[in-house]
Amino acid sequence: MSNDICDVVGCEESSERSLSKQKVSCTGLELKNPDCRNVHLCKKHYKEWKKLSKGSIPDYYGAD
Ligand SMILES: [Zn+2]
Repeated sequence: MSNDICDVVGCEESSERSLSKQKVSCTGLELKNPDCRNVHLCKKHYKEWKKLSKGSIPDYYGAD
């Protein structure tokens, strides 16, 4: 079994999730391999991605 590594530049964590590249590239996360179809994200970057993908909503509530 292959143990995938997070695809975000500078990250060496093992991946938890796999997302389509489109979903990830629009959040501005920088990828090691921009040509890949699926992006693997570690726990940390998956959280970050979730935040970023919600970030299209204006920041009415302020930072927590
Ligand atoms: Zn990562």
